[in-house]
Amino acid sequence: MRLAEVDGKALLRRHGLAGPCGILLGAGEEPPDALARHWPGYFLKAQLLEGGRGKRGLVRRFDRLSDFRNARRLILATLDDADTPLLLEEAVPVIREIYVALRIDGSKQAIELLVAPGGGEDIEQTTKLARIPAVDGTITAEMIYPAVARLFPTEIAVRLARYAARLPEIARQEDLELLEINPLALTQDGGFIVCDAKLVRDDSAAFRHDADEFPTSRMLGERAMTPLEHSARDLGFRLVETAGDVVLVTSGAGLAMMMMDLLADHGLPAASFMDNLRGAPDETMVERLKIARFLAARPNIKGIVFQTVIASRSLAERIDALCAWIEAEPLPKPLFVGVDAGHAATRTMSTDQAIGKLRALGVAAFTDPVALVKAAAKALR
Ligand code: GDP
Ligand code: MN
Repeated sequence: MRLAEVDGKALLRRHGLAGPCGILLGAGEEPPDALARHWPGYFLKAQLLEGGRGKRGLVRRFDRLSDFRNARRLILATLDDADTPLLLEEAVPVIREIYVALRIDGSKQAIELLVAPGGGEDIEQTTKLARIPAVDGTITAEMIYPAVARLFPTEIAVRLARYAARLPEIARQEDLELLEINPLALTQDGGFIVCDAKLVRDDSAAFRHDADEFPTSRMLGERAMTPLEHSARDLGFRLVETAGDVVLVTSGAGLAMMMMDLLADHGLPAASFMDNLRGAPDETMVERLKIARFLAARPNIKGIVFQTVIASRSLAERIDALCAWIEAEPLPKPLFVGVDAGHAATRTMSTDQAIGKLRALGVAAFTDPVALVKAAAKALR
């Protein structure tokens, strides 16, 4: 679950990391001017689950509270959505912007800390990035200091190392996959203030946390979903629509990511990502195929790629469901199927039998995902 800025800052505040004073305003709400009159300046920030708001004009600074309405008008006109919640904050006087992030290094399956000077909106371009990998699951101030001392004056580096060393424990307690502070502001008096926060909580740890927490983030998450993504969730699986050419039908996030990479490498970006939902039924292939047909009917879609990797559930059942779907009505786009099955899955149908069955229906079917993607690319590009 991705947290909106306002919720991310609230979470961090709970753990003692200061943020600017602020107030969340719903649609049409005015700031209570008694509260905010004496701030040295103001920031009005659209709350959406996307970054890069500054560059899109969705973060606006002004000096007098009387400019609030104008700032709001400009933001809402850019978004074309009057219901977007807005965060009104005091403008923190910033001496220096810093980028700090705790993330999971996917290949090492371990946390790592990233720190860069500058921060702000162009962090992707920075070449001065300190990467501090965890050792035995921990990152201490002593480990951080040598890396940040190359990027900051000593007395900032010392305090930054101590500050950043608090993040792994916060991430662990809160089950965060990502804890990114950009910018972290260094103030005149040497304090650190969280000016923007991007936090992502691991959905599989949701049961450890209050389900009613962070209603703004939940509402924004719901609103960011497409109608088909909603339907998919109702049917028991997770769909993310992406800008691409081929509908990808898989089960499990790992396989989906691998196939998306393979497809993209062959010039065929995927238009869908499918994953399992917590607490959902074991088998949702029939439902996935139903949604895939809808997606494939769109004019920009060139084809459908179905890849299964199956070891414990029945290959026969899955192939029968696939064949029934193919035969039910003509498919809107060409279909390419990959079958990788073993162990208990092949008790009543072998991989060769599955391939034979599909080919008898005129479907291009393969045992190797790379061969599948190459064939799809050759036919569709
Ligand atoms: P993003 O573009 O979606 O990441 O939105 P941010 O919240 O990071 O805001 C964009 C930029 O506004 C930041 O990179 C900062 O430079 C600036 N900014 C945001 N909050 C403050 C603040 O309290 N004080 C100052 N001086 N600058 C801020
Ligand atoms: Mn930011």
